[in-house]
Amino acid sequence: MNAVDIEKEIERIYSFPDEVYIKIIREVGFECDFCGKCCTSKFNDHVFLLDDDAQRIIEIAGRKFLRPAPYFDLCDNLGRFYVMGYALKTKSNGDCIFYTGTGCEHYEARPRICKIYPYMLHREPDEEGNIEFRQISGLDLHGLYHNEISEKICEETLKSVKDYESGFLRQKLGFIKEIERYFKENDLRNSKQMYDRMMRQYQKGKAIEVYVFFQGRFKKEVIAKQIINPE
Ligand code: SF4
Repeated sequence: MNAVDIEKEIERIYSFPDEVYIKIIREVGFECDFCGKCCTSKFNDHVFLLDDDAQRIIEIAGRKFLRPAPYFDLCDNLGRFYVMGYALKTKSNGDCIFYTGTGCEHYEARPRICKIYPYMLHREPDEEGNIEFRQISGLDLHGLYHNEISEKICEETLKSVKDYESGFLRQKLGFIKEIERYFKENDLRNSKQMYDRMMRQYQKGKAIEVYVFFQGRFKKEVIAKQIINPE
């Protein structure tokens, strides 16, 4: 997706009719029963952090709980990866680092994605490849359904979902613009070949450099995959 496409997607999110989304929220009637499933690797392999989430986590718990979000966006010709933001670290079993087994260690300060889950509003291809809005994740797989949801909660949820989804795209837009500027300034280019080569080395346990887009600039991180049973 280029910068123009992202700006159009942000407009689409805000022009998605409020009354349609509120009807969906009301029909689903989701209520969290604190089963904790969405905090485990069964549901999510990472919790992506918008910049304000990452800053809040740093302030309340420390930087050591952050990692570059997985699935790096690109790699330059010198073998350095780039990604649009941080994620929360996971435990060795893949569960969120803040999941205690019965709840969230930092529930009040939890990331924005955790607050809106299972609601979402972004477009994805359906089984036939048609791009459509997806509104709910993990329907009927966790929590309680068909509860009465007040007008106030519906409206707050709608606002939080639109703010999160557009915030994610704005972060992506900032990332794309900064990549363009940074690559030009440093005479770098995107290299798929280097991406694959460095990723193979990373899978074998070699440390790699990942430049994480955070607060408008790249922050260099050096990470290595933990190899449990090296061949
Ligand atoms: S931050 Fe808290 S609410 Fe979010 S996935 Fe982790 S444990 Fe669950």
